Amino acid sequence: MKTKFAIALHGGAGTIPKGSLDAATELAYTDALKEALNRGYDLLKKGGSALDAVELAVKSLEDCPLFNAGKGAVFTHTGQHELDACIMDGATLNVGAICGITGIKNPIELAKTVMLESEHVLLSGNGAVEFAKSKGLIFEDAAYFHTDFRYQQWQELKNSDVFQLDHTLPIEQKSGTVGAVAMDKNGNLAAATSTGGMTNKKFGRIGDSPIVGAGTYANNEIVAISCTGHGEPFIKAVVAYDVACLMQYKKLSLHAACQEVVMHKLPKMDGEGGLIAIDNKGNIELCFNSEGMYRGQKNSNGVEEVAIYR
Ligand code: ASP
Repeated sequence: MKTKFAIALHGGAGTIPKGSLDAATELAYTDALKEALNRGYDLLKKGGSALDAVELAVKSLEDCPLFNAGKGAVFTHTGQHELDACIMDGATLNVGAICGITGIKNPIELAKTVMLESEHVLLSGNGAVEFAKSKGLIFEDAAYFHTDFRYQQWQELKNSDVFQLDHTLPIEQKSGTVGAVAMDKNGNLAAATSTGGMTNKKFGRIGDSPIVGAGTYANNEIVAISCTGHGEPFIKAVVAYDVACLMQYKKLSLHAACQEVVMHKLPKMDGEGGLIAIDNKGNIELCFNSEGMYRGQKNSNGVEEVAIYR
C-alpha cells in the first residue's frame, strides 16, 4: 500500500543500555514521544504541510523538560543555555537556522522565521536575538530553562575541559537533541532539528544540528533527515547530505545509504549517534550506531512505533 503521509522523530541517541531507565522514566519518555508524534501526524492527516508538522512535533519536544532542546537544555561551561536549531523545506530547499541563542522559548520557531521572514539562512548570537524580538517571538528567563538534572550534569563537568553528549555515561541517560522528518499528502518532505548541544560546551561551540547538510537536510526529490549524536564527526562527515548523495548519485536505497554512513563511515570517525530519515515514497529509517535512540514513527498505513533501545 502506498504511504500517503508519514512522520518520524527522535529525542537523541547515545548510551542508553536496556534496563538503565526505571519504568516511570521510560513511560515519561515514551509518552512525550507519542504526544509529539501524534501532534505532527494529526496535522498531516488534516492536510497540513510537512514543514508545519515537523515544526509542531519539535516544538512539543522543546517544551518537554526531558529533552535537551528548549526547556531542559544542557548547561554550557559558563552556566548558560545556548540553543541551536534548523528547519528545511524539501519542496523549495529553503532553510532557516539559528545557533548559540540564549532565552528563546522555541528555537525551531525562530529557525522557521529566519527561513520565511529574512533573506538569510543562519543567524547567530545577539543579532539573532534582535531579529527574534523584532518578530515578536517569545523569550523566557534562565529559570525556565533550568532543570535540576541538567544542572547536576554540569556540576560534574564544569571544572574540567570535558564536554559531553547529553546522554552518555557516566551521566544518567537523560536525552537528548530532538528532531522530526515528515512527508505530507502532497509528497512534500521537511526536516527539523533542535538542541542545547553538549554539556559544558565552551567558546561558542556549535554542533551539527543547525548546519545544513550535516545535522539537517530535506529535498523532495530524495530524502529528509535529522541527525543526533556527537556533532563534530557529524559535521566532518556531512552526514545528512552524504546519505542524500548516496541515494541521488549512487542510487542506493534509503536503508543502504543510512547503513553506509551511520554504521560504516561514522564509527571510523568516533561518530556516535544516529538519524531519522524519510524518502520521497514515505519509507522511514531510524538508524543509529549507539546503544539507544529515543525515536518514533507513524504513517498513513497504520504503522506506529515508539522505542528507546536497540
Ligand atoms: N548533535 C548535537 C550536537 O553535537 C548533540 C546531540 O545530538 O545530542 O550539538
